[in-house]
Formats: sequence, C-alpha cells, structure tokens
Amino acid sequence: MEEKKILIIEDEKPIADILKYGFEKEGFLVQCACTGGEGFAMAQKEQPHLALIDWMLPDISGVDVCRMLTEAYTMPIIMLTARGAMEDKLYGLEAGADDYITKPFDLREVIARVRTILRRFDKANGKHDREQLVCGALTVLEQEHTVYVQEQLINLTPKEYELLVFFLKHPRQVFTRTTLLDRIWGYDYEGDTRTVDIHVQRIRKKTGLDKSLVTIFGVGYKYVP
Ligand code: CA
Repeated sequence: MEEKKILIIEDEKPIADILKYGFEKEGFLVQCACTGGEGFAMAQKEQPHLALIDWMLPDISGVDVCRMLTEAYTMPIIMLTARGAMEDKLYGLEAGADDYITKPFDLREVIARVRTILRRFDKANGKHDREQLVCGALTVLEQEHTVYVQEQLINLTPKEYELLVFFLKHPRQVFTRTTLLDRIWGYDYEGDTRTVDIHVQRIRKKTGLDKSLVTIFGVGYKYVP
C-alpha cells in the first residue's frame, strides 16, 4: 500500500507524541506542528494526505487552520477537540472538516477513522480504482490482496484468502467440499475434503464471519451476506 503522509497540528506534546507513535507503527509517515502557522507552512511544503488538527492552538484557532487548508488544498481534515458540544461539531464540519474526534480519544479509533476517510477520499478522487468486497465489518481490497476487519489488517494464508474471496463472490450458493477443493486447490490436488473444513474454520476464526459462512450438513458450505 502507498505510504500515507499525515500532518498533526497539536500544541500538546504528549498528545502529538501518542498520535505520531500510533500512526508510525501503522506505517504512516507523520509530521508534527505545534502552531497553526507552522502547520499551514508544513502543509504547503509536505502536501500531506490528511491533517489532524487540534481545535485549541496557541496562535490561530484550529478551525481557522482547517478553513485555510481546505480553501488552499484538497485534503481531508479531522478536527481534534476537548469540546464536545454539538454546535462546535457543526462549526468544525462547516469549516470543511471531514470528521471530528473528541478528546480523550482511543488511538485505535483515530487510526480507524483516518483509514476510512483516506479510503473514501481516494475512491472519490478515483486515485485507486480498487475492487472492494464488503461483508459487515469485513473489507477485502482485491488489488492489494488485503483483508481488513474493523480496519484491522487480517493475515490470511493464500488459500484462505482465495477461499474467502470465492465465497464473497458467490453469495447464497451452496458448494460441496469437493467443488471447493477443485475450484481453489485444483483438480490434481492430493489432499482430502478435510482441507476445506480446516480452511473454513480458520477463516471464521480470523475474520469473525461465523454466521455468514454457513455449514450445510451433509453437503458443504454457503456464504450468506
Ligand atoms: Ca491544544
């Protein structure tokens, strides 16, 4: 996946540090600014993919920074604030913010929201014409061969991945274990049908699709979205 650049404009160092640590751990490139002016200059220079802006900054208000940035560039913005009032939220969204996160926040939630917004933004801009398969909290990005459950990357083996994608593309159809073996493993595969059971069990466990990957007793499996 392309490395995404995130700009954090936040004067409270401990908060900026937590965000920087969290995003870097997830493979983002992170830049931090402590004032609105510094943040705006950095945005011009670095052209980040997304900006996280604190509402209360020492020089100019975060909302003003947000307005300045959205007027000058097309980049998604998330406002951070300790203020939870609905008017503030609307005010922030009116200034062009795409989302609004109230402090104290859960780091995983911030990362999840950033991912969602970036994906939506890329899609809207046609940057990646990606095939997406979605089932509840599960998303498969086919071009990238990646599977996410609630924005968390899930590690599947190549066969688990193929089997999952096969089910997602054939909803409500019942497949026997033999058919699945033929389709996913190929006709000359030497293993037996228990291979299919083991893979289905692993997919259920890893993705949480227990209810959607249904066992049809005496027949095989079907996927119910
Ligand atoms: Ca602040």
